[in-house]
Amino acid sequence: MERKLVSIQCIDAVESIAGADNIVKARVLGWDVVVKKAEFTPGAPCVFFEIDSLLPDGQAWAEFMRPRGFRVKTARLRGVLSQGLALPVDILPAGVEVPDLGTDVSDLLGVVKFEPVVPDTREISGGFPGQVPRTDEIRLQSALGVLEEMRGRDFYVTTKLDGTSASYFRPIDGGDGDLVACSRNWALVRGPNPVWRVALRHDLERVIPPGFAVQGELCGPGIQKNRLGLAELDLFVFSVHDTHAGRFLDHAELVGFCAERKLRTVPVEAVVVGEAAARFEHSLELWLERAKGLYEGTRNRKEGIVVRPLHDAPSATLGGRMSFKVINNEFLLKDED
Ligand code: ATP
Ligand code: MN
Repeated sequence: MERKLVSIQCIDAVESIAGADNIVKARVLGWDVVVKKAEFTPGAPCVFFEIDSLLPDGQAWAEFMRPRGFRVKTARLRGVLSQGLALPVDILPAGVEVPDLGTDVSDLLGVVKFEPVVPDTREISGGFPGQVPRTDEIRLQSALGVLEEMRGRDFYVTTKLDGTSASYFRPIDGGDGDLVACSRNWALVRGPNPVWRVALRHDLERVIPPGFAVQGELCGPGIQKNRLGLAELDLFVFSVHDTHAGRFLDHAELVGFCAERKLRTVPVEAVVVGEAAARFEHSLELWLERAKGLYEGTRNRKEGIVVRPLHDAPSATLGGRMSFKVINNEFLLKDED
């Protein structure tokens, strides 16, 4: 499921905030968002901007966001968590009919995603290999339907590491030396960059079987804030894709695959199976609580968690692999760049 930065959504509920006369708390999808009082009644449509929306400079409706650099961020107002921005549908350009619920209107409004780091284009050697799915995770609050799909299944929880995404692909008919090493979106030239340094250190050109892709988070000194406090760069694997079979390895297969090759996996916080999994009450509130905490062995708040079924499965809600992330709201409030 592609992330919809700005879409037409329904105000599902409105609640007053103790001590506040001009603002109220509204519910949109799985998000709580503070809105102006009397602007919406429950059931009304709105234009909903997810966090990380960067509003255009030059539109009257966006002017109030100038002091915040036009960026929609997680905030706490009168003690209430507010994530996103809900505006009336009359901000849509004149003459435009209100689109159906769920319609993405980012382009129509000129909204783009706030991106903290500018990619270094000097190191690109080519596009991301078409056989390999890109790494991405949807936020639970934007896809609550996935909870229903997860219910009753065995599942596992990993820590979401805050490094940079790396994918390594060994073409099926290739020999040694034709490893494709990629950042989130591009193949990179062989060189002193962190993605290739890790590839050489782990001898990925040889240990990855032809036709397989290994995907993980690169963490260490110089990458983001190195919140794991690592002395040395390393790769933490979260997916292995068999491009020939067109499938991801199941959790147990991935753990075995990595152990054989002396690769680390992302930290596994919990594996829930059998009765415990069958009875597990998947809810937004529970997962938001579980997303809190520190990176093990550090005093740094973790970014969150990623939840997946033990046996890889497709998700109708997500239109892809069943998997979601839950970001730690304390991290969003206090640590996010
Ligand atoms: P958004 O889609 O919410 O705008 P984004 O696309 O920048 O944000 P991230 O928040 O970085 O995505 O989340 C997805 C990324 O998380 C993946 O691409 C992967 O690199 C990284 N990641 C870190 N830890 C894990 C983990 N344990 N499991 C899966 N992915 C992880
Ligand atoms: Mn994404």
